[in-house]
Amino acid sequence: MGAKLVIGNWKMNGRLAANEQLLRAMLAMPAIARSGAGIAAPAAYIAQIAALCEGSGIQVCAQDVSRFAADGAYTGEVSASMLADLGCRYVLIGHSERRQYFAEAGACLVDKLQAALDAGMVPVFCVGETLAEREAGEYLSVIFSQLEVLRGFAGRELVVAYEPVWAIGTGKVANIEQISEIHAEIKKWLLQTLGGTDNIRVLYGGSVKADNAEVIMAVPGVDGALVGGASLDASTFELICQTV
Ligand code: 13P
Repeated sequence: MGAKLVIGNWKMNGRLAANEQLLRAMLAMPAIARSGAGIAAPAAYIAQIAALCEGSGIQVCAQDVSRFAADGAYTGEVSASMLADLGCRYVLIGHSERRQYFAEAGACLVDKLQAALDAGMVPVFCVGETLAEREAGEYLSVIFSQLEVLRGFAGRELVVAYEPVWAIGTGKVANIEQISEIHAEIKKWLLQTLGGTDNIRVLYGGSVKADNAEVIMAVPGVDGALVGGASLDASTFELICQTV
């Protein structure tokens, strides 16, 4: 796979004026656009972000997508083709916050992957164990069972993001041994199950900051980063993008 990828996940943050200020600051920082970084904006602001990013190297990413592909009576849903129509290149699928608060798993995530791929977007499929699962020594089986959703998608361009739940928004970053173990295991699983990893990047996410990004990015098997809180500050995000 090509260059490393950084995606900033703004989660449920932002307003029109603040988004414009933040994005204009990022657009003025060549390292961000040059790295081809993605910005995952709330659905309400994707059109705004896409318009501001047009012609720059920054890629628009959605944070979620409906499992229903066809237009119709699905009140509140945003379809993959709508997101593609707005200019999204990537879409997060199965983020741990979606799993935790909206009980997303299994068949729902398969449908979302299919819908995203059919609309021409690249899914960013998120996996990761909770602290209890890590402490119980079950983390590998948890991650493998989450990866099962990808089984039918051999040969497709995908991004997998390993985000240990205990490292998200906690300031507690996984250590180098933990990251390199999981990334190696994910790549082994992808190779064995999908027959190749050439078109699949595996990102790390969970308290990636300016002061740890370089070390994380240098871990074998890390093809980039999914950044939450630190993507809400342009200079911090710039420093992270400079490490790719
Ligand atoms: P933080 O970088 O804030 O820990 O969030 C990580 C994350 O969930 C990105 O999707």
